Amino acid sequence: MRLYNTLTKKIEKFEPYDKNEVKMYTCGPTVYHYAHIGNLRTYIFEDILEKTLEYIGYNVKRVMNITDVGHLSGDSDTGEDKMLQGAKRENKTVEEIAHYYTNAFFKDLEKLNIRKPKYIEKASELIDMYIEIIKKLLEDGYAYISNGNVYFDISKAQNYYLLSGKKPDELIIGAREDVNLDESKKNPHDFGLWFTTSKFENQAMQWDSPWGRGYPGWHIECSGIAIKHLGEYLDIHCGGVDNIFPHHTNEIAQSEAYLGHKWCKYWLHGEHLNVETGKMSKSTGEFLTLSLLEKKGYDPLAYRFFCLQSHYRNQLVFSYESLDMAANAYQKLLNRIKQIKESKDGEVNKKQIIKYQEAFKKGLENDLNTSTALTVLYDVLKDQELNNNTKLYLIKDFDKVLSLDLLKDKEVEISDEMIKYIEKMIEKRKEAKKNKDYELADKIRDELKEKGIILKDGRDETTYEIKKIGEDKNV
Ligand code: AMP
Ligand code: ZN
Repeated sequence: MRLYNTLTKKIEKFEPYDKNEVKMYTCGPTVYHYAHIGNLRTYIFEDILEKTLEYIGYNVKRVMNITDVGHLSGDSDTGEDKMLQGAKRENKTVEEIAHYYTNAFFKDLEKLNIRKPKYIEKASELIDMYIEIIKKLLEDGYAYISNGNVYFDISKAQNYYLLSGKKPDELIIGAREDVNLDESKKNPHDFGLWFTTSKFENQAMQWDSPWGRGYPGWHIECSGIAIKHLGEYLDIHCGGVDNIFPHHTNEIAQSEAYLGHKWCKYWLHGEHLNVETGKMSKSTGEFLTLSLLEKKGYDPLAYRFFCLQSHYRNQLVFSYESLDMAANAYQKLLNRIKQIKESKDGEVNKKQIIKYQEAFKKGLENDLNTSTALTVLYDVLKDQELNNNTKLYLIKDFDKVLSLDLLKDKEVEISDEMIKYIEKMIEKRKEAKKNKDYELADKIRDELKEKGIILKDGRDETTYEIKKIGEDKNV
């Protein structure tokens, strides 16, 4: 297996510390809002990584944090706690917000066939661990107290700028650091380990500590959770590219200072999903969620397919046109597999299986090249020398990693949102016809057809039929 390591800026052979168990840490969501489909792209990439490692024979222990401690958003107007922002926005308590959006996140994972990590830790539940780490960092001279807060002194860290590969003045201070605290730091990149004096009234959760009542910095939570669950040696740490600096840079600095040795071997970062107008983010710009895509009639797995078509280290621009193309290709793929399923024949050919498994593995082992892996799947479908049982064996096998429900007979599940959407479109089309805007009426009919919804114009009213793989059902 070869993976691109952000730390060395090279594609490297993957060799875990302990070949019996790969220890993998993936940064989780801040649960003050829904995950957007960009965040979900990163979780899809991590899911593929975990399943590929398993496919090639490793056991994987994967841990993820849930950030429910609100951190100050230095780039927001008020610079207040993000969790509190969520609570105010929805007139709920911070706990309710965390609970609601954590569940919403898990639902998104399920819909995208992303396996929920076995070990999930809420940031708010490991405060003692962070305090223990911070105490040691202070004792060993890696941290200092200024203006009541505890800061990590980056001048004491070895190779602080290695991960980002940038010069100090090329890096802006992380958006999540409270910019107002700058004057109390020795170096602008020093980062908070424990805050006591920042805008308290804007901080929802507080705990007692040897330095006074307050709350931990953002970065310490991932180091604490990773070390607690995975021990002193970590094989893989993942996140999106925005995590490289300051988050992962600071995690390395504090973890290695605390442990006294090198910590994580491979740092993997997924590139962003952008919209045509630019960046997608929770606080600014366009905010597309999975449930929005569903409301528009898309199968979540069509989005997964869309992501798998491109390499995780390439930026991906989202548009409905490109999602439509992926959704059509995905539907065609399922239809083709359905035909194969309907005429099972022949003995499974072991030699062919090994040949294709090797090709599939080769793609994934080459820094997770999912589009090559998909090509191998298409090659299997095309190969006239393969009997259908051999094809089905391989499809099932590849789907352990791809997780596209390739063999599942999808019962047509129609959500209330979907019904509302179809009815709204039928109404819009009726209106268009009334106004003699036949172009628009046809456009609506064609758009619905692309989504597998066939309109039937009766004498008095329009009914519809949903055609998907598996059964066709009238509704
Ligand atoms: P957050 O909930 O903001 O902490 O982000 C959760 C994960 O999504 C992190 O690993 C981020 O690096 C990643 N992420 C944030 N924005 C994007 C984006 N536009 N595309 C892909 N991944 C993203
Ligand atoms: Zn993290």
